[in-house]
Amino acid sequence: MKPAPFDWQAPESLEAALALKAAHGDGARFIAGGQSLVPAMNFRVAQPGLLIDLSRVAGLDSLAWLPDGSLRIGATVRYRTIERDAEVACRLPLLTEALAEVAHPQIRTRGTLGGNLSHADPASEMPAVMVALDARMVLQRAGGAREVAARDFFLAPLTTALAEDEMLAAIVVPPLPAGTGTAFLEVARRRGDYAMMGVAAVLRRDGAGRCAEARMVFCSAGPTPMAAPRAAAMLVGTALTPGDIAAAAKAATAEIEPMGSVQASPAYQLHLAGVLAARALATAAERAA
Ligand SMILES: Cc1cc2nc3c(=O)[nH]c(=O)nc-3n(C[C@H](O)[C@H](O)[C@H](O)COP(=O)(O)OP(=O)(O)OC[C@H]3O[C@@H](n4cnc5c(N)ncnc54)[C@H](O)[C@@H]3O)c2cc1C
Repeated sequence: MKPAPFDWQAPESLEAALALKAAHGDGARFIAGGQSLVPAMNFRVAQPGLLIDLSRVAGLDSLAWLPDGSLRIGATVRYRTIERDAEVACRLPLLTEALAEVAHPQIRTRGTLGGNLSHADPASEMPAVMVALDARMVLQRAGGAREVAARDFFLAPLTTALAEDEMLAAIVVPPLPAGTGTAFLEVARRRGDYAMMGVAAVLRRDGAGRCAEARMVFCSAGPTPMAAPRAAAMLVGTALTPGDIAAAAKAATAEIEPMGSVQASPAYQLHLAGVLAARALATAAERAA
């Protein structure tokens, strides 16, 4: 399979990349790791007239801890860099745990977090993790930037809040407060495949050990990353007993809309969601203690 003919430019500054995008609009696509875009071009699902290669743009590939403890991840930071960062593993272990489930090492060596989030595949792990961690997306256009909460960034399958002249320039992940435990679990047919169902859980205990905050977000569970806020709210104020967790995990299945695939029916996906949510919440509760 071969892509349709296209032009290619590799600007070296953010300004030049944004100017190209502003000039060409939807006729141009950024290319980061190419792990989703190149297959789409080969299938001719995507036929951009111009590829704007981000690999030489200075300053987009840095991981930085901000004074408030947030992690700022430049758009072209590769999965592998994040996955192997010891400080990330210590301060934001949900990222490291979930990244191990994304595709294969070869793909994680090329693929970028910015490309993955911009692609907005609802089966993808990282969008769910970003919503669970309450991350913010920094959207940059020539002459200005705006921030969008991860929960408002993903609009539909393969559709985000990015305007045609905008780039996802960075992702800002806030620090986890003391007493927080997290967990990510998924079931895929083979290791490295997209998940049939996956869930990210974030729980915070107060000084007395009771649940002060809870978030559950699923992937492969609907058109976007699917949060289950009502089920999560059932946990707040509880001691996170096995009974509390089982009830919330069961309730979460009423808040998701799995669409089914060749690998799993919606009914099987709902079953997986309940089982995985219970296990992820139990693990997060243990880690929060
Ligand atoms: C065999 C295989 C298995 C895979 N399995 C999984 C899996 O289990 N889980 C999973 O999540 N993913 C999986 N993937 C996809 C992989 O994670 C991709 O790397 C990722 O989705 C895209 O990142 P990229 O850097 O390669 O982006 P690219 O392919 O370069 O770009 C993807 C899209 O984002 C746009 N884009 C890129 N960067 C920006 C930016 N900064 N701002 C705005 N738009 C931008 C591009 O124009 C394009 O539309 C798999 C891929 C393959 C080939």
